[in-house]
Amino acid sequence: MTGIVIAIDGPAGTGKSTVAREAAGRLKLAYFDTGATYRLATLVCLREGVDFAEHGDVAAMVETMNARLILDPRGPLFLLDDEDVSRLIRSDTVAMTVSNVATNLAARAALGDWQRRIIDQERTDGFSHGRGVVVEGRDITTVIAPDAEVRILMTADEEIRVARRAAEGADAGTVRDAVLGRDRVDSTVVNFLTAADGVATLDTSDLSIAEAVDAVVELAKEAMA
Ligand code: C5P
Repeated sequence: MTGIVIAIDGPAGTGKSTVAREAAGRLKLAYFDTGATYRLATLVCLREGVDFAEHGDVAAMVETMNARLILDPRGPLFLLDDEDVSRLIRSDTVAMTVSNVATNLAARAALGDWQRRIIDQERTDGFSHGRGVVVEGRDITTVIAPDAEVRILMTADEEIRVARRAAEGADAGTVRDAVLGRDRVDSTVVNFLTAADGVATLDTSDLSIAEAVDAVVELAKEAMA
């Protein structure tokens, strides 16, 4: 018996993170936020003064950084040299810079290798003791774990995505630029706006978080049956 992998992709403001985390809690699985690996890499590069234009330097930093994730859906933690940087990686500075790492193909390859190792670990052991993992990101259903038992693309209307982010703070104009601008840059290297073959689309425009979690749990139960 090996654990289940539930892969969820989609742009910002679809409710993806909250839904992935709550679904993992309900299913007693690990929760892996791959966006955090891009944010950790960005924070390290900012701290070390790495020039983002030097793609090889950024990739080398990704390969040598001492980062660790605690995949607990009730309290995920992100550590750099054992320092808890869970809040720091959500800063505006990191959010505004992270696309530099996301569009660096050498850095993506290095982060992808790390992500695959974490996923493999959860299939047999790890935080979930081999029950499995809910993995959330942009290219999980297509590039990182195309063999996942459940593959979901979460979508929502643009205006709804902007409004959801605005509700978390900041004004709508700034949020619009931040959310849609970052998606536009990111989608030059990965397609996370349309579902690949075999990937279920979950449009959350008219769904509450609870309803979206129910839908994910339902798909997982079907796959586990
Ligand atoms: O999901 P989150 O907003 O934390 O992701 C931060 C950034 O990491 C995204 O804007 C994107 O640039 C990048 N990312 C990615 N591939 C993933 C997950 C995140 O390129 N699988």
